[in-house]
Amino acid sequence: MFRIMGRSGSAMKVLLKPIALIKRIAGDFRKKFRLSISFKISIAYMGLYLVAIIIAILGTMIGYMTYKTVELDKTGDIYSGLIVRKTIEDQEALENYLIDERLSAVLIYDSEFNEIINTRNDHNNYVHNTFFKFETILKEEIYVYSATVSELGEIYYVNIYFDVATILNEVMLIGVLVTFAGLLGMLMIAIVGPSTSKKLVKPISDMTEVTRTISANNINTRLNIKASQHELRDLAETFNSMMDRIEDDYLRQQQFVSDASHELRTPIAVLKGYIDMLDRWGKEDKAVLEESIGAIKNEANNMQDLVEKLLFIARNDKMTLKLTKEEFNVNEIVEEVYKETKMIDEKHIITTSFCQGALIFGDKNRIKQAVRIFVENARKFTPENGEIDIGCYAEDEFVAIRVRDNGIGIKKKQLKKIFNRFYRAEESREKETGGHGLGLSIAKIIVLSHRGKIKVKSTYGVGSSFVILLPYIRLVDEA
Ligand code: ADP
Repeated sequence: MFRIMGRSGSAMKVLLKPIALIKRIAGDFRKKFRLSISFKISIAYMGLYLVAIIIAILGTMIGYMTYKTVELDKTGDIYSGLIVRKTIEDQEALENYLIDERLSAVLIYDSEFNEIINTRNDHNNYVHNTFFKFETILKEEIYVYSATVSELGEIYYVNIYFDVATILNEVMLIGVLVTFAGLLGMLMIAIVGPSTSKKLVKPISDMTEVTRTISANNINTRLNIKASQHELRDLAETFNSMMDRIEDDYLRQQQFVSDASHELRTPIAVLKGYIDMLDRWGKEDKAVLEESIGAIKNEANNMQDLVEKLLFIARNDKMTLKLTKEEFNVNEIVEEVYKETKMIDEKHIITTSFCQGALIFGDKNRIKQAVRIFVENARKFTPENGEIDIGCYAEDEFVAIRVRDNGIGIKKKQLKKIFNRFYRAEESREKETGGHGLGLSIAKIIVLSHRGKIKVKSTYGVGSSFVILLPYIRLVDEA
């Protein structure tokens, strides 16, 4: 059984071999002679043109022939009555009435189909269907006109045979002339066509050329939109706007790397300074030793914090940031952040205002991290004994978590920049508050990844209010 199957399988393979070979040769041919689009367009137009010529040739020939047979039918209508009348009067004299030189023969039957006259001996049928007429035109160069004539109260069936040799010659001549004109047109297309279609697809080769040269060094290169038209213009515009986006991302990335390196440079320099100090005097001087160790610890923590923030942002950029979402009540977060802040911060008055309970679906730790960022900032930018309030309330389909302080506030022109990476207002730089300008960027990432919004209100010298708006599942009883 298996052997039989094996044999039929190999027989199949042998049978399929020539097909595979043909496929391979065709593939090789296609690869070697990669036909250009302009060539293919020319060929396609030539093909269409050929079909048009054939239709034109057949159309003019058939049209002319039909026109002529209509004319013959009209002549037949005039002659048929006359011929029947004269034949009844004197059959012998009929020839005198074959007045028209195109009229080659006549066949007349009476109403019982008795032949009265037949000048065409080989035909004695009164047939007048279209196919028969067509056949006799082609075979005998004769057009048969058929009619029923009533004369002196009797019915007669008449066939008049017209010689159409001249007409056929004219039809042939017309055919030849139209074919000639068509071929002339084809020759023109063959000469002019390739350059026209090449002109049409030139923007594509230009685009290929430009695209090939684009790299990180000349990322601002764009395609020339004016050189192309219609769909190719759309393509060029789409390509350019794609390049705009890539360039933006690339520049932002470069800026991020240079800002990050810059931020890391300071703590590394501080570390090096203290290590040098330890190396020189720290071994003997206990005070220097303790100061240096404390500072090194502080800077190491600072660096760790920065690196973690950078990693968070990088993960978000790479879209690999993972959120562990669950259902929870926002006032749990508010309560926890309020309690921990109150515990660690004795320099400010920490309060919590009315808090609307609301169930939301999100990553609790991340949202807490965002709230902490706002509270951290409030603590940093609020002088001692200032007030910091954390609360929540419902606003349309969102639940709002608000962190409000009566600290230094933010100037209007700085307000739009505070969410930019590494941005710190001059005041905070001077104050040595220790931030890297990444906190709000991270908070923004977290809130946006929960389909939320952030609202900021701040008056310089009066205080600030940061509100996180998150879509809730449902509101629950007040806390
Ligand atoms: P940083 O780590 O420096 O605090 P952020 O991104 O969190 O960075 O904040 C950016 C800047 O926005 C801060 O440097 C500060 O100038 C301003 N800012 C943020 N929150 C407040 C606030 N509550 N009061 C005043 N200024 C603030």
